[in-house]
Amino acid sequence: MSAPSRPADALPGHPHIVRRGDALMIEALRADELARRFGTPLYVYSRAAIEQAARQYEDAARDHPLALRYSVKANSSKAILQLLQRRGWGFDVVSGGELARVLDAGGSADKVVFSGVGKTDAELLAALRAGVQCINVESTSELERIDRLAGGLGVQAPISLRVNPDVDPRTHPYMSTGLRTSKFGIDQAQARQAYARCAQLRNLRVLGIDVHIGSQITTLGPYLDALDRVLELVRDIEHDGIRLHHLDLGGGLGIRYAGESPPAPGEWIAALSERLRARGQGHRALLVEPGRSVVGNSGVLLCRAITLKSTLERHFAVVDAAMNDLMRPALYEAWQAIEPAVLREDGHALRYDVVGPVCESGDWLGRERMLDLREGDVLAILSAGAYGMAMASNYNTRGRAAEVLVDGEQAHLVRERETLDDLLRCERGLPG
Ligand SMILES: *Cc1c(COP(=O)(O)O)cnc(C)c1O
Repeated sequence: MSAPSRPADALPGHPHIVRRGDALMIEALRADELARRFGTPLYVYSRAAIEQAARQYEDAARDHPLALRYSVKANSSKAILQLLQRRGWGFDVVSGGELARVLDAGGSADKVVFSGVGKTDAELLAALRAGVQCINVESTSELERIDRLAGGLGVQAPISLRVNPDVDPRTHPYMSTGLRTSKFGIDQAQARQAYARCAQLRNLRVLGIDVHIGSQITTLGPYLDALDRVLELVRDIEHDGIRLHHLDLGGGLGIRYAGESPPAPGEWIAALSERLRARGQGHRALLVEPGRSVVGNSGVLLCRAITLKSTLERHFAVVDAAMNDLMRPALYEAWQAIEPAVLREDGHALRYDVVGPVCESGDWLGRERMLDLREGDVLAILSAGAYGMAMASNYNTRGRAAEVLVDGEQAHLVRERETLDDLLRCERGLPG
Protein backbone atom coordinates (compact mmCIF):
# COMPACT_ATOMS: atom_id res chain seq x y z
CA MET A 1 0.00 0.00 0.00
CA SER A 2 1.48 3.33 -0.99
CA ALA A 3 2.16 5.89 1.70
CA PRO A 4 -0.25 8.80 1.88
CA SER A 5 1.04 11.22 -0.71
CA ARG A 6 -1.26 14.11 0.08
CA PRO A 7 -3.19 15.43 3.04
CA ALA A 8 -6.66 14.08 3.73
CA ASP A 9 -9.27 15.53 1.38
CA ALA A 10 -12.62 16.13 2.95
CA LEU A 11 -15.46 15.15 0.67
CA PRO A 12 -17.68 18.23 0.32
CA GLY A 13 -20.61 18.06 2.69
CA HIS A 14 -19.29 14.93 4.39
CA PRO A 15 -17.46 15.83 7.58
CA HIS A 16 -15.35 12.96 8.96
CA ILE A 17 -15.48 10.99 5.71
CA VAL A 18 -12.24 11.78 3.92
CA ARG A 19 -9.81 10.44 1.37
CA ARG A 20 -6.33 9.91 2.77
CA GLY A 21 -3.91 8.89 0.10
CA ASP A 22 -5.79 6.25 -1.90
CA ALA A 23 -8.04 5.17 0.93
CA LEU A 24 -11.51 6.33 1.83
CA MET A 25 -11.66 6.81 5.60
CA ILE A 26 -14.58 6.96 8.01
CA GLU A 27 -12.98 8.87 10.86
CA ALA A 28 -9.74 6.93 11.53
CA LEU A 29 -10.78 3.69 9.82
CA ARG A 30 -10.33 2.55 6.23
CA ALA A 31 -13.54 1.70 4.39
CA ASP A 32 -11.97 -1.34 2.65
CA GLU A 33 -10.90 -2.77 6.00
CA LEU A 34 -14.33 -2.24 7.54
CA ALA A 35 -15.81 -4.10 4.55
CA ARG A 36 -13.35 -6.97 5.05
CA ARG A 37 -13.94 -7.15 8.78
CA PHE A 38 -17.75 -6.89 8.85
CA GLY A 39 -18.72 -8.04 5.35
CA THR A 40 -20.85 -6.25 2.77
CA PRO A 41 -23.34 -4.71 2.23
CA LEU A 42 -22.55 -2.67 5.33
CA TYR A 43 -23.86 0.61 6.65
CA VAL A 44 -21.15 2.63 8.40
CA TYR A 45 -21.85 5.81 10.38
CA SER A 46 -19.47 8.37 11.82
CA ARG A 47 -20.32 9.25 15.39
CA ALA A 48 -18.42 12.54 15.09
CA ALA A 49 -20.43 13.52 12.02
CA ILE A 50 -23.76 12.88 13.78
CA GLU A 51 -22.57 14.82 16.81
CA GLN A 52 -21.38 17.70 14.67
CA ALA A 53 -24.82 18.03 13.07
CA ALA A 54 -26.57 17.63 16.43
CA ARG A 55 -24.35 20.31 17.95
CA GLN A 56 -25.42 22.81 15.29
CA TYR A 57 -29.03 22.38 16.40
CA GLU A 58 -28.05 22.54 20.07
CA ASP A 59 -26.13 25.77 19.50
CA ALA A 60 -29.16 27.29 17.77
CA ALA A 61 -31.24 26.37 20.81
CA ARG A 62 -29.16 28.79 22.89
CA ASP A 63 -30.52 31.75 20.98
CA HIS A 64 -34.19 30.79 20.79
CA PRO A 65 -36.43 28.58 22.95
CA LEU A 66 -36.23 25.41 20.90
CA ALA A 67 -37.14 21.78 21.59
CA LEU A 68 -35.20 19.26 19.46
CA ARG A 69 -37.15 16.16 18.43
CA TYR A 70 -35.17 13.84 16.14
CA SER A 71 -37.36 12.27 13.48
CA VAL A 72 -36.89 8.56 14.12
CA LYS A 73 -37.96 7.41 10.68
CA ALA A 74 -34.80 8.83 9.06
CA ASN A 75 -32.68 6.26 10.89
CA SER A 76 -34.20 4.35 13.76
CA SER A 77 -31.18 2.30 14.83
CA LYS A 78 -30.90 1.98 18.57
CA ALA A 79 -27.32 3.24 18.79
CA ILE A 80 -28.25 6.45 16.98
CA LEU A 81 -31.32 6.99 19.15
CA GLN A 82 -29.15 6.48 22.24
CA LEU A 83 -26.53 8.89 21.01
CA LEU A 84 -29.14 11.65 20.60
CA GLN A 85 -31.06 10.75 23.75
CA ARG A 86 -27.86 11.12 25.78
CA ARG A 87 -27.42 14.61 24.36
CA GLY A 88 -30.86 15.52 25.64
CA TRP A 89 -32.83 15.21 22.43
CA GLY A 90 -36.43 14.05 22.28
CA PHE A 91 -38.00 12.24 19.34
CA ASP A 92 -40.65 12.54 16.66
CA VAL A 93 -42.27 9.16 15.98
CA VAL A 94 -44.76 8.13 13.31
CA SER A 95 -45.83 4.70 14.59
CA GLY A 96 -46.29 2.67 17.74
CA GLY A 97 -43.22 0.71 16.67
CA GLU A 98 -41.08 3.83 16.63
CA LEU A 99 -42.43 4.84 20.05
CA ALA A 100 -41.45 1.42 21.42
CA ARG A 101 -37.97 1.79 19.91
CA VAL A 102 -37.47 5.18 21.54
CA LEU A 103 -38.51 3.86 24.94
CA ASP A 104 -36.29 0.80 24.46
CA ALA A 105 -33.32 3.09 23.68
CA GLY A 106 -33.90 4.95 26.95
CA GLY A 107 -35.79 7.94 25.56
CA SER A 108 -38.42 9.47 27.80
CA ALA A 109 -42.00 9.68 26.58
CA ASP A 110 -42.43 13.24 27.79
CA LYS A 111 -40.04 14.33 25.03
CA VAL A 112 -41.85 12.40 22.29
CA VAL A 113 -44.18 13.90 19.70
CA PHE A 114 -46.34 11.46 17.76
CA SER A 115 -47.16 12.37 14.16
CA GLY A 116 -48.80 10.38 11.37
CA VAL A 117 -51.86 10.39 9.17
CA GLY A 118 -53.20 6.97 10.20
CA LYS A 119 -52.62 6.23 13.87
CA THR A 120 -54.55 3.18 15.06
CA ASP A 121 -56.43 3.00 18.37
CA ALA A 122 -53.77 0.62 19.69
CA GLU A 123 -51.01 3.09 18.80
CA LEU A 124 -52.85 6.04 20.32
CA LEU A 125 -53.54 4.10 23.52
CA ALA A 126 -49.86 3.14 23.77
CA ALA A 127 -48.89 6.80 23.35
CA LEU A 128 -51.39 7.99 25.96
CA ARG A 129 -50.35 5.30 28.45
CA ALA A 130 -46.66 6.10 27.93
CA GLY A 131 -47.41 9.79 28.49
CA VAL A 132 -46.06 11.33 25.31
CA GLN A 133 -45.43 15.07 25.15
CA CYS A 134 -47.81 15.72 22.26
CA ILE A 135 -49.89 13.97 19.62
CA ASN A 136 -49.95 15.77 16.28
CA VAL A 137 -53.49 15.26 15.02
CA GLU A 138 -54.13 15.08 11.29
CA SER A 139 -57.94 15.08 10.93
CA THR A 140 -61.08 16.08 12.80
CA SER A 141 -62.15 12.44 12.97
CA GLU A 142 -58.86 11.56 14.68
CA LEU A 143 -59.55 14.35 17.15
CA GLU A 144 -62.85 12.77 18.21
CA ARG A 145 -61.21 9.36 18.46
CA ILE A 146 -58.38 10.61 20.67
CA ASP A 147 -60.89 12.35 22.94
CA ARG A 148 -62.81 9.10 23.35
CA LEU A 149 -59.69 6.99 23.96
CA ALA A 150 -58.25 9.49 26.46
CA GLY A 151 -61.63 9.59 28.25
CA GLY A 152 -61.55 5.80 28.53
CA LEU A 153 -58.13 5.98 30.20
CA GLY A 154 -59.14 8.90 32.40
CA VAL A 155 -56.37 11.15 31.03
CA GLN A 156 -56.20 14.36 29.04
CA ALA A 157 -54.49 13.94 25.68
CA PRO A 158 -51.91 16.64 24.88
CA ILE A 159 -52.44 17.61 21.24
CA SER A 160 -51.44 19.88 18.41
CA LEU A 161 -53.20 20.03 15.08
CA ARG A 162 -51.08 19.45 12.03
CA VAL A 163 -52.19 22.02 9.53
CA ASN A 164 -51.58 21.91 5.83
CA PRO A 165 -50.36 25.37 4.83
CA ASP A 166 -50.53 24.73 1.06
CA VAL A 167 -46.89 25.65 0.49
CA ASP A 168 -44.72 24.16 -2.23
CA PRO A 169 -41.44 23.02 -0.67
CA ARG A 170 -39.85 22.67 -4.14
CA THR A 171 -38.60 19.15 -3.61
CA HIS A 172 -39.43 15.72 -5.08
CA PRO A 173 -43.24 15.21 -5.32
CA TYR A 174 -43.00 12.15 -3.02
CA MET A 175 -41.29 14.35 -0.43
CA SER A 176 -43.85 17.19 -0.55
CA THR A 177 -46.32 16.94 2.29
CA GLY A 178 -47.81 20.42 2.67
CA LEU A 179 -49.60 20.92 -0.64
CA ARG A 180 -53.38 21.17 -0.73
CA THR A 181 -53.61 17.84 -2.56
CA SER A 182 -51.54 16.03 0.07
CA LYS A 183 -52.99 13.42 2.43
CA PHE A 184 -51.31 15.12 5.40
CA GLY A 185 -52.74 17.55 7.89
CA ILE A 186 -55.88 19.64 8.19
CA ASP A 187 -56.55 22.33 5.57
CA GLN A 188 -55.53 25.78 6.67
CA ALA A 189 -59.13 26.92 6.03
CA GLN A 190 -60.62 24.23 8.31
CA ALA A 191 -58.07 24.48 11.10
CA ARG A 192 -59.69 27.30 13.05
CA GLN A 193 -62.94 25.37 13.29
CA ALA A 194 -61.07 22.23 14.30
CA TYR A 195 -59.40 24.12 17.16
CA ALA A 196 -62.80 25.39 18.24
CA ARG A 197 -63.97 21.78 18.35
CA CYS A 198 -60.95 20.86 20.51
CA ALA A 199 -62.05 23.40 23.05
CA GLN A 200 -65.36 21.52 23.42
CA LEU A 201 -63.76 18.12 23.92
CA ARG A 202 -63.06 17.53 27.60
CA ASN A 203 -60.29 14.96 27.28
CA LEU A 204 -58.04 17.05 25.06
CA ARG A 205 -55.48 19.62 26.10
CA VAL A 206 -54.28 21.88 23.28
CA LEU A 207 -50.52 22.43 23.36
CA GLY A 208 -49.64 23.90 20.03
CA ILE A 209 -49.80 23.85 16.29
CA ASP A 210 -47.78 21.77 13.84
CA VAL A 211 -46.67 21.84 10.21
CA HIS A 212 -44.31 19.61 8.25
CA ILE A 213 -44.13 20.62 4.61
CA GLY A 214 -41.73 18.08 3.15
CA SER A 215 -38.23 16.73 3.04
CA GLN A 216 -34.90 17.55 1.37
CA ILE A 217 -35.84 21.24 1.34
CA THR A 218 -32.85 23.32 0.27
CA THR A 219 -34.12 26.91 0.55
CA LEU A 220 -35.59 28.92 3.39
CA GLY A 221 -38.47 30.46 1.42
CA PRO A 222 -41.00 27.63 1.82
CA TYR A 223 -40.34 27.49 5.58
CA LEU A 224 -40.89 31.22 5.97
CA ASP A 225 -44.06 31.06 3.87
CA ALA A 226 -45.36 28.19 6.00
CA LEU A 227 -44.48 30.08 9.19
CA ASP A 228 -46.38 33.15 7.99
CA ARG A 229 -49.44 31.02 7.26
CA VAL A 230 -49.22 29.40 10.66
CA LEU A 231 -48.89 32.76 12.41
CA GLU A 232 -52.08 33.99 10.73
CA LEU A 233 -53.85 30.97 12.13
CA VAL A 234 -52.28 31.38 15.55
CA ARG A 235 -53.68 34.90 15.71
CA ASP A 236 -57.19 33.67 14.84
CA ILE A 237 -57.05 30.71 17.20
CA GLU A 238 -55.83 32.76 20.13
CA HIS A 239 -58.45 35.37 19.29
CA ASP A 240 -60.94 32.55 19.86
CA GLY A 241 -59.50 32.14 23.35
CA ILE A 242 -57.31 29.05 22.79
CA ARG A 243 -53.71 29.39 23.96
CA LEU A 244 -50.93 27.76 21.93
CA HIS A 245 -47.71 26.94 23.80
CA HIS A 246 -45.47 25.86 20.96
CA LEU A 247 -45.08 26.04 17.22
CA ASP A 248 -43.89 22.72 15.80
CA LEU A 249 -42.33 23.46 12.41
CA GLY A 250 -41.53 19.84 11.55
CA GLY A 251 -38.34 18.77 9.82
CA GLY A 252 -37.29 18.55 6.23
CA LEU A 253 -34.06 20.50 6.06
CA GLY A 254 -32.05 19.16 3.12
CA ILE A 255 -28.47 17.92 2.88
CA ARG A 256 -25.88 18.03 0.16
CA TYR A 257 -26.16 14.94 -2.08
CA ALA A 258 -24.79 16.44 -5.29
CA GLY A 259 -24.28 20.18 -5.72
CA GLU A 260 -27.03 21.41 -3.39
CA SER A 261 -26.13 24.02 -0.80
CA PRO A 262 -28.91 23.85 1.78
CA PRO A 263 -28.88 26.22 4.75
CA ALA A 264 -27.07 24.90 7.82
CA PRO A 265 -29.30 23.98 10.77
CA GLY A 266 -28.24 27.14 12.60
CA GLU A 267 -29.20 29.30 9.61
CA TRP A 268 -32.58 27.62 9.37
CA ILE A 269 -33.41 28.20 13.04
CA ALA A 270 -32.02 31.74 12.97
CA ALA A 271 -34.22 32.59 9.96
CA LEU A 272 -37.33 31.23 11.71
CA SER A 273 -36.49 33.06 14.89
CA GLU A 274 -35.90 36.30 13.03
CA ARG A 275 -39.22 36.01 11.18
CA LEU A 276 -40.97 35.41 14.50
CA ARG A 277 -39.41 38.56 15.94
CA ALA A 278 -40.31 40.54 12.84
CA ARG A 279 -43.95 39.52 13.40
CA GLY A 280 -43.79 40.46 17.09
CA GLN A 281 -43.78 36.77 18.08
CA GLY A 282 -40.19 36.42 19.29
CA HIS A 283 -41.33 34.82 22.54
CA ARG A 284 -42.87 31.79 20.80
CA ALA A 285 -41.29 28.48 21.70
CA LEU A 286 -40.33 26.40 18.68
CA LEU A 287 -40.17 22.67 18.29
CA VAL A 288 -38.44 21.08 15.28
CA GLU A 289 -38.29 17.50 14.03
CA PRO A 290 -35.14 17.16 11.91
CA GLY A 291 -34.17 13.73 10.60
CA ARG A 292 -32.15 13.74 7.39
CA SER A 293 -30.07 16.80 8.35
CA VAL A 294 -28.92 15.09 11.56
CA VAL A 295 -27.79 11.74 10.14
CA GLY A 296 -27.86 11.88 6.33
CA ASN A 297 -24.26 12.77 5.61
CA SER A 298 -22.87 10.78 8.54
CA GLY A 299 -23.32 7.42 6.82
CA VAL A 300 -22.12 5.39 3.86
CA LEU A 301 -23.26 2.08 2.41
CA LEU A 302 -20.30 -0.15 1.57
CA CYS A 303 -20.75 -2.79 -1.10
CA ARG A 304 -18.53 -4.99 -3.23
CA ALA A 305 -18.49 -5.42 -7.01
CA ILE A 306 -19.62 -8.97 -7.77
CA THR A 307 -19.50 -8.82 -11.55
CA LEU A 308 -18.44 -6.30 -14.16
CA LYS A 309 -20.31 -6.82 -17.40
CA SER A 310 -20.55 -4.93 -20.62
CA THR A 311 -23.52 -5.22 -22.95
CA LEU A 312 -23.71 -3.70 -26.39
CA GLU A 313 -25.14 -0.55 -24.80
CA ARG A 314 -23.65 -0.19 -21.37
CA HIS A 315 -21.13 -1.12 -18.73
CA PHE A 316 -22.62 -2.54 -15.54
CA ALA A 317 -21.01 -2.91 -12.15
CA VAL A 318 -23.21 -5.43 -10.36
CA VAL A 319 -22.63 -4.96 -6.65
CA ASP A 320 -23.81 -6.87 -3.59
CA ALA A 321 -26.04 -4.03 -2.32
CA ALA A 322 -29.41 -3.48 -3.96
CA MET A 323 -32.64 -1.54 -3.87
CA ASN A 324 -33.71 -3.53 -0.82
CA ASP A 325 -30.71 -2.09 1.05
CA LEU A 326 -30.95 1.46 -0.31
CA MET A 327 -34.26 2.35 -1.86
CA ARG A 328 -33.76 6.05 -2.57
CA PRO A 329 -32.46 5.72 -6.15
CA ALA A 330 -35.30 3.36 -7.12
CA LEU A 331 -37.97 5.33 -5.27
CA TYR A 332 -37.01 8.93 -6.02
CA GLU A 333 -34.42 8.53 -8.78
CA ALA A 334 -32.12 10.00 -6.16
CA TRP A 335 -28.47 10.73 -6.93
CA GLN A 336 -25.92 9.71 -4.31
CA ALA A 337 -22.17 9.94 -4.80
CA ILE A 338 -20.31 6.64 -5.26
CA GLU A 339 -16.66 6.48 -4.27
CA PRO A 340 -14.21 3.58 -4.55
CA ALA A 341 -12.90 2.52 -1.13
CA VAL A 342 -9.42 2.47 -2.66
CA LEU A 343 -8.64 4.64 -5.65
CA ARG A 344 -7.14 2.84 -8.61
CA GLU A 345 -5.43 4.69 -11.34
CA ASP A 346 -5.02 1.83 -13.79
CA GLY A 347 -6.38 3.86 -16.68
CA HIS A 348 -9.34 1.48 -16.99
CA ALA A 349 -12.06 3.87 -15.93
CA LEU A 350 -15.40 3.22 -17.61
CA ARG A 351 -18.81 4.81 -17.36
CA TYR A 352 -20.69 2.28 -15.21
CA ASP A 353 -24.27 1.83 -14.18
CA VAL A 354 -23.91 0.59 -10.61
CA VAL A 355 -26.73 -1.90 -10.09
CA GLY A 356 -27.79 -4.53 -7.57
CA PRO A 357 -28.62 -8.21 -8.06
CA VAL A 358 -32.38 -7.78 -7.52
CA CYS A 359 -34.63 -8.84 -10.39
CA GLU A 360 -36.02 -5.39 -11.25
CA SER A 361 -34.70 -2.89 -13.76
CA GLY A 362 -35.43 -0.26 -11.10
CA ASP A 363 -32.70 -1.84 -9.01
CA TRP A 364 -29.90 0.62 -9.63
CA LEU A 365 -27.80 2.63 -7.20
CA GLY A 366 -26.06 5.05 -9.56
CA ARG A 367 -26.06 5.61 -13.30
CA GLU A 368 -23.24 6.60 -15.62
CA ARG A 369 -20.50 6.93 -13.04
CA MET A 370 -16.87 7.07 -14.16
CA LEU A 371 -15.12 4.42 -12.08
CA ASP A 372 -11.87 2.50 -12.37
CA LEU A 373 -12.93 -0.88 -11.05
CA ARG A 374 -12.07 -4.55 -10.78
CA GLU A 375 -14.34 -7.31 -9.56
CA GLY A 376 -14.09 -7.57 -5.78
CA ASP A 377 -13.48 -3.85 -5.27
CA VAL A 378 -15.36 -2.09 -2.48
CA LEU A 379 -17.51 0.93 -3.28
CA ALA A 380 -19.00 3.43 -0.85
CA ILE A 381 -22.37 5.01 -1.56
CA LEU A 382 -22.29 8.33 0.27
CA SER A 383 -25.05 10.28 2.03
CA ALA A 384 -26.66 7.02 3.11
CA GLY A 385 -27.23 7.81 6.79
CA ALA A 386 -30.88 8.82 6.37
CA TYR A 387 -33.65 6.81 4.68
CA GLY A 388 -31.15 4.05 3.94
CA MET A 389 -31.29 1.27 6.52
CA ALA A 390 -34.63 2.61 7.77
CA MET A 391 -36.24 1.77 4.41
CA ALA A 392 -34.48 -1.56 3.88
CA SER A 393 -36.58 -4.61 3.07
CA ASN A 394 -36.15 -8.31 2.50
CA TYR A 395 -37.14 -8.29 -1.18
CA ASN A 396 -35.61 -11.24 -3.06
CA THR A 397 -35.12 -12.92 0.35
CA ARG A 398 -32.12 -10.77 1.09
CA GLY A 399 -31.24 -10.30 4.73
CA ARG A 400 -30.78 -6.71 5.80
CA ALA A 401 -27.27 -5.29 6.08
CA ALA A 402 -25.22 -4.97 9.25
CA GLU A 403 -24.55 -1.52 10.74
CA VAL A 404 -21.35 -0.19 12.28
CA LEU A 405 -20.83 3.04 14.20
CA VAL A 406 -17.28 4.36 13.96
CA ASP A 407 -15.96 6.37 16.87
CA GLY A 408 -12.40 7.51 16.18
CA GLU A 409 -10.38 4.31 15.87
CA GLN A 410 -13.16 2.10 17.23
CA ALA A 411 -15.82 0.34 15.20
CA HIS A 412 -18.93 -0.78 17.08
CA LEU A 413 -21.17 -3.34 15.42
CA VAL A 414 -24.57 -1.83 16.27
CA ARG A 415 -26.72 -4.19 14.23
CA GLU A 416 -25.88 -7.72 13.17
CA ARG A 417 -26.43 -8.84 9.63
CA GLU A 418 -29.85 -10.49 9.29
CA THR A 419 -29.56 -14.25 8.75
CA LEU A 420 -31.66 -16.62 6.71
CA ASP A 421 -33.00 -18.03 9.99
CA ASP A 422 -34.18 -14.53 10.92
CA LEU A 423 -35.98 -14.28 7.60
CA LEU A 424 -37.74 -17.65 7.86
CA ARG A 425 -38.59 -17.38 11.54
CA CYS A 426 -42.11 -15.95 11.13
CA GLU A 427 -43.20 -18.29 8.36
CA ARG A 428 -45.44 -21.28 8.90
CA GLY A 429 -45.88 -24.04 6.35
CA LEU A 430 -49.22 -25.54 5.38
CA PRO A 431 -50.47 -28.41 7.53
CA GLY A 432 -50.30 -31.95 6.17
C1 LIG B 1 -40.27 12.59 8.02
C2 LIG B 1 -40.72 13.59 8.98
C3 LIG B 1 -39.82 14.47 9.58
C4 LIG B 1 -38.34 14.51 9.24
O1 LIG B 1 -38.08 14.90 7.94
P1 LIG B 1 -36.54 15.07 7.48
O2 LIG B 1 -36.66 15.46 6.06
O3 LIG B 1 -35.88 13.75 7.65
O4 LIG B 1 -35.93 16.11 8.35
C5 LIG B 1 -40.31 15.35 10.53
N1 LIG B 1 -41.61 15.36 10.87
C6 LIG B 1 -42.52 14.53 10.30
C7 LIG B 1 -43.93 14.59 10.72
C8 LIG B 1 -42.11 13.62 9.34
O5 LIG B 1 -43.01 12.81 8.78
